[in-house]
Amino acid sequence: MSLLVEARGVTKHFPLGRGKTVHAVDDVSLSIAAREIVGLVGESGSGKSTFGKALVGLHDKTAGEVYLEGERLPQRYTAADFRHYAQRMQMIFQDPYSSLNPRMTVGEIVGEGLRLGGGASDAQQRAAVADWLERVGLAAGYAGRYPHELSGGQRQRVGIARALILEPTFVVCDEPISALDVSVQAQIVRLLGELKESLGLTLLFIAHDLSMVRYVSDRMAVMYLGSLVELGGADDVYFRPMHPYTKTLVASNPEPDPRSERERATIPITGEIPSPINIRAGCRFATRCPEVMDICRTVTPELRTVAAGDERHVACHLFESGGLASPAPTALPTEVVDR
Ligand code: SF4
Repeated sequence: MSLLVEARGVTKHFPLGRGKTVHAVDDVSLSIAAREIVGLVGESGSGKSTFGKALVGLHDKTAGEVYLEGERLPQRYTAADFRHYAQRMQMIFQDPYSSLNPRMTVGEIVGEGLRLGGGASDAQQRAAVADWLERVGLAAGYAGRYPHELSGGQRQRVGIARALILEPTFVVCDEPISALDVSVQAQIVRLLGELKESLGLTLLFIAHDLSMVRYVSDRMAVMYLGSLVELGGADDVYFRPMHPYTKTLVASNPEPDPRSERERATIPITGEIPSPINIRAGCRFATRCPEVMDICRTVTPELRTVAAGDERHVACHLFESGGLASPAPTALPTEVVDR
C-alpha cells in the first residue's frame, strides 16, 4: 500500500504567557496508507483533535512536518493554501449543531467548496449538491432547508456532504458521531464506511468510543496527554492492548452488549489526567499507571516496535527489550461487533 499521509514529529504548543506552555501535541509521528482508516482514540484533552487539525492545516504546527502524497504541506496555511488543499484534504467536525452556518441553506453549505474553488457553473453546483445530498441519504429537496430544520443525524450528513463534495483523498473525521444518538451513530459510521469504499477515501477517524473505532478502522492509535502511546492493528489493540493506558481505556469502554459488560474484567483508571502545562520528563502516564516503576518518573519512553512485522508500537518501559515483554495483556473485552 502506498503512503498517503505522513506526519513526522508533529508538535503543537499553545503559549499561555509567563513562561507557561500547553503541550497539546508533542512529537507525534504517524503514517496513513492510501485507502486506510486509522482510528485515533484517547480521553478528552489527549490532543487527538488538535493533531487532526494540525494535519489539515487548521492549526499551525509548532514543529514537525506533514506530507501528503510525498508533498510537504505548509507549516502555516494562507487563505490560498486552504483553497488549494481543500481539493485534497477535508475535515468532518464533531458538532453538527455548531459547524453549519445557520444563515445558509443546506444547498449553499454543501456547495460552498465548489463555489469558492470556482470552475463550476451554478447549474453544475446545483447538480453536484443534489447528487451529494442523495449520496449521504438526504433527498435533493433538503437543499432549500436551513440547519435548524434538520435533526442531528441529518446535519452530520450535511457536514459529510460538504466535506466530500470536492472528492478529497484524505479526510479527518473529528468525533463525527459523539454528539449523535446511538442509533444514528451506527448509520453515520455505516455511511462513512460505504463512502470510503466507493470513493477510495483515506480517513483519520477520531473518537472516544473504542468499539466503534475498532469497527471502522484498519489500525488504531492511542494518544495520552499529547503523545502517541500505542499503535497497531485495530483488532490487536482492542483485544490485546499492551500499554497500561490502553488497557485501562479498553477496560473502561462501555460495551454495546450488557452481557459482555458483566463478563468483562475492569481496570479502574485512578487520578485525573495531569495538566498539559509545562510537562516534565518521564512517562506522562506515570501518575496514574498501575505498573509504574522508578525509571518511569524520570525517563520518557519512546514509541518502539514491539512485535514482528513492524505492526505494533508501544511507548512504555515495560516493553523496552525490543520483544514482547513479560506482562500479559489483560482485560480483554468480549468481541461484540462483527466487522
Ligand atoms: Fe506505566 Fe511506566 Fe509504562 Fe509509563 S512507562 S505506562 S508509567 S509502566
